[in-house]
Amino acid sequence: MLRDVVIDLLKERGVELSEIADIVYTLQSPFNPDLTMAECLESVERVMDKREVHHTVLTGIALDVAAENDALPEPLLSIIKTDEPLYGVDESLAVSIASMYGTIGFTSFGYLDKNKMGLMARLDDKSTGEVHCFLDDLVAGIASAASARLAHGRKKD
Ligand code: MG
Repeated sequence: MLRDVVIDLLKERGVELSEIADIVYTLQSPFNPDLTMAECLESVERVMDKREVHHTVLTGIALDVAAENDALPEPLLSIIKTDEPLYGVDESLAVSIASMYGTIGFTSFGYLDKNKMGLMARLDDKSTGEVHCFLDDLVAGIASAASARLAHGRKKD
């Protein structure tokens, strides 16, 4: 199943859904004091049901991995490897996930881009030799969508 392939790929790249749920909790708990971690994880799981999310994650991670293996042409290789601040394709790709449940997700995505928390701060560490140009934004996109989903009380889809 494509969903499992994508979740395994995220794991391989150092991302557990529970850590995305941590970000969702941080985003939503100020507005919803009764919120539980289980609800946050459930919301992330539902976002991971969407084919659009699968395709976006596959595309972004493929570019990160290709850059890690020096398998992209210049000047794109250097741009992605150094996560050049003016390169915005990583954000453009991931914001499609964030806006899946409306504009609240869009707002959270902008906030996370400025305030890299938890898992995102770890992915942003350039000293490891790993390339996470796209992955940090994909995580922000999934967390934002899951957060917006909770804000709308969409427990069914
Ligand atoms: Mg990025």
